[in-house]
Amino acid sequence: MASYYKRVFKPSFREYLYVIPGKKSFFGCLKLLWNLIKPNAVTYPVAVTVLTTYCSLKCAKCNNLMPCYKEPYHIPAETVLKDIETLLSHTDICIKLELLGGEPFIYPELNKVIEGVKKFNNVLCVAFTTNATVIPSEETLKLIASLKNKKIVISDYGVKNQKPEELMEVCKAYGIPCARSVSEYWADPGGLECREKSEEQLGIEYEKCYSSRYCRTLLNGKMYACARAASLTDLGYMDGSHDSFDIRAKRSDKEFRKEFRKFLTLDYADACNYCDHYKSIHIPAGEQLE
Ligand code: SF4
Repeated sequence: MASYYKRVFKPSFREYLYVIPGKKSFFGCLKLLWNLIKPNAVTYPVAVTVLTTYCSLKCAKCNNLMPCYKEPYHIPAETVLKDIETLLSHTDICIKLELLGGEPFIYPELNKVIEGVKKFNNVLCVAFTTNATVIPSEETLKLIASLKNKKIVISDYGVKNQKPEELMEVCKAYGIPCARSVSEYWADPGGLECREKSEEQLGIEYEKCYSSRYCRTLLNGKMYACARAASLTDLGYMDGSHDSFDIRAKRSDKEFRKEFRKFLTLDYADACNYCDHYKSIHIPAGEQLE
C-alpha cells in the first residue's frame, strides 16, 4: 500500500490551508491532525462529485472526456445527495466537496443539491468549478452565498464565450470567494487506447499525478481514483473495479473505513494506462471541437 502520509495526510493539510480563509486556528489544525491520525480515521482532501456530463464547452482534449459522451445525462439530485450522505456518514472530515460537471451551472437541480449539502458539518468547504460560460441565477448565487465556506473556481482557457470577469464581478456582489485559474496549456492526456504499461510504471505515474490526490471522484455511487478513471469507466473504456470504491455496498462503519483507507492509498490506477499526463506534453488549453 502506498504511503498514507503522501496520499492522504500531506494533501489534506495542503488543501486545508488553501480552503480555510484567513489565519488558521490552532484548534482547527489540531482537530484536523487528530482526524487524520486516530485509528480508522477517514479524512481526505477532496471529494469531487459529478452532477452532470453535459458541458457548455467542447474541449478537444478534455481530461474528463465530456465530449466523448454521445448521450450526456444529468444525475438526479436525489441520487447525488444520497451518495454524498452515504460517503459523509463514514467520513471524519472532507476538506473540500467539489461540485462538478461537465458544467455545474447548467445542471438543472443545482439549487436542490446546494440546499442538501448545507447540513453536512464534516465538510469544510463546498466548491464549484466552472468554465464561466453561464452566470448562475440570482437564486443559485444566494444559495451559494448562504453556505458557510464556499468557493467558485473559474477554469479560464480564453475561449471566446467564457465570461470570467462578469462572473467574478457577480461573485463579488454576492460575497462569494472566487478564484480565476488561467491556463494557456494543458498536459495532453492522449487517446483512449490502453497503453499496456507495467504495474510498476502505473505506480510511478499515479504517485506523481496531482489528480490522484486531489481529484478522487464520486460518480453514480462509486468513488474513483481520479476524474479520468470515473469517465473512462462510465464510458465503458475500462472495467474500473481496481480504481473504484463502491460506496453503496452494504458494510458496517468499521468495514467501510478500513476498505476506504485502502482505496485512499492505492498503489496504482488502471486509468493511468489510458493517460499520457506523465509525459507533460503541452497543448493549448481548451481548444474547441466544432
Ligand atoms: S489517469 Fe493517472 S495520470 Fe491520468 S489523471 Fe488519472 S491519476 Fe493522473
